[in-house]
Amino acid sequence: MLLGPPGAGKGTQAQRLERAHGLVQLSTGDMLRATIASGSELGEKVKGIVESGALVPDDIIVSMIAERIEQPDCARGFILDGFPRTVGQAEALDAMLAEKGTGLDHVIEMSVEADVLVRRISGRYACAKCGAGYHDEFQKPAKEGVCDRCGSTEFSRRADDNAETVRKRLDAYEEQTAPLLPYYREKGLLRSVDAMAPIDQVTREIENVIAGGEH
Ligand code: ADP
Ligand code: ZN
Repeated sequence: MLLGPPGAGKGTQAQRLERAHGLVQLSTGDMLRATIASGSELGEKVKGIVESGALVPDDIIVSMIAERIEQPDCARGFILDGFPRTVGQAEALDAMLAEKGTGLDHVIEMSVEADVLVRRISGRYACAKCGAGYHDEFQKPAKEGVCDRCGSTEFSRRADDNAETVRKRLDAYEEQTAPLLPYYREKGLLRSVDAMAPIDQVTREIENVIAGGEH
């Protein structure tokens, strides 16, 4: 599990872990954006919540994850990116994993100062075709306007990545998600990495944590 505020680099590192270790990245943010794009009734409801910067209710998120981890591609392991966001979700996750006879191997806190988060979030965008993440300043494609991974020339920015919503999202993190840090620390699962460092260095720190073995 990668735990940290929006813009900490969870998605960036999850994409790298996915390729390096053959794991699946489960981003509840991406799942919600797919639900919104489907135009369903649930999608309409979720759209309003996400665009305001608030958190989607626990029951919706928990059932989404419960369904997803039953898929065969999750059997070899998965990276949780952006879930859980509340202590209620963390408790539901514990119960879900215990029922499957499994549990979390690592909870990795990615810590970053608030002003850096705003800069990261306002500059980020992704390939519209394959989802590879980029940044105007920190992570440009090798050839301008062309995705490194799939060659697409179409990119998109998230509707909730604007200055006003970002502040609300950071507040929601402090109030509702930061309590997960003591929750996992008490279980002896929490390790922290300095996510202010350049992307490659953060990757190395995460690899070190993982190499330290399972808990
Ligand atoms: P999260 O998934 O935690 O919200 P992202 O992985 O989308 O965060 O990262 C936010 C933005 O910051 C992206 O545009 C990414 O390219 C950039 N970024 C991620 N990690 C770093 C880092 N260590 N240094 C500089 N920029 C970074
Ligand atoms: Zn691409």
